[in-house]
Amino acid sequence: MAMKVRAAVAHRQKVPLTIETLDLDGPRAGEVLVELKASGLCHSDLSLFDGSRDWTDYPLLPGHEGAGVVLECGAGVTSVKPGDHVIPVAIPECGECPACRSTVTNLCDHYFQPWPRRPFSLDGRPVRAFCELGTFASHIVVRETQVCRIRKDVPLETVCCLACAGATGIGAAAYTARVAPGTTVVVFGLGGIGTNVVDGARICGAARIIGVDTNTAREASSRLAGVTDFINPRQVDDVVGHIREITGGGADYSFECVGSAELWRQAVECTRIGWGMAVMVGVPPSVETVAFRPRSILEGRRIMGSYLGNVKTRTELPQLVEWFVEGKLSLDQLVTHRISLDQINSGFDLLKQGSALRSVIVY
Ligand SMILES: [Zn+2]
Ligand SMILES: [Zn+2]
Repeated sequence: MAMKVRAAVAHRQKVPLTIETLDLDGPRAGEVLVELKASGLCHSDLSLFDGSRDWTDYPLLPGHEGAGVVLECGAGVTSVKPGDHVIPVAIPECGECPACRSTVTNLCDHYFQPWPRRPFSLDGRPVRAFCELGTFASHIVVRETQVCRIRKDVPLETVCCLACAGATGIGAAAYTARVAPGTTVVVFGLGGIGTNVVDGARICGAARIIGVDTNTAREASSRLAGVTDFINPRQVDDVVGHIREITGGGADYSFECVGSAELWRQAVECTRIGWGMAVMVGVPPSVETVAFRPRSILEGRRIMGSYLGNVKTRTELPQLVEWFVEGKLSLDQLVTHRISLDQINSGFDLLKQGSALRSVIVY
């Protein structure tokens, strides 16, 4: 059924979101109508309207970290039914393309193909939904391949964060690096994503987790998540040399969660000769160039990119929910604010102040 929904819409760059009433078309074949219960605020949403990214497709409905309940299914939908609890996901998992059939990537081919459908409109004008989701609306219509069914006994206003931040961080350790038990891990940047990496590494059985952050206030909380050694780069002359020294030659894995070209270099160089793996989670500004010593790669180190933690979004994301239920994830301590849709702009103001602060809209 077509319906009216409240939503936070971006109309152009460097202007706050405005709360609008949008028209939402009903689900067509292969599509699902989801009533969202919650949506996290992510830096990627902010970058669509704060001028930091050259986005031009407006009006735009941001939001890609939601959780909710299926209300209605279009023809041919078989994997979910009304009443199911779901996490809508940015990357589809069709299950059939070469990427989905492989065991090495979560990047379904359909993620890179445009989906021309625009379920949302404003006064008859189509509204683009970010990631084909648009979770800053109370209801969304998405493809069946973009919803992950989860168990019903978990708080949706917390597990929504698994859709982006959780998958990105936990997955980087568990599904990109596949951290082996007994190994040594370095995490650069202990904000929300970095803390999720620490969770993932600890769940995988890492013996030692070295956290690197200039913010001393993050030491206590990161130790709760599993950091065993905390390094403040402001207090150490040569971070790479220091890590090599205390690990006896370098870490088995490192994770860059800041988005700095210089830290990408350090993440590579601090790993061990022979098999050290540096996983890149942070995104440096596109104008930056990353420089490595050629020898650091020749010596057998590996660099891995990690997109949404390499978590297959429909078949592997439920495992993260299981870890949450088992009390292994720090999501509760990471969600710092619960807000209404009307407070979304102040939620983004908080996000700008510190990356460890996470606000979740509760619908
Ligand atoms: Zn696929
Ligand atoms: Zn995100």
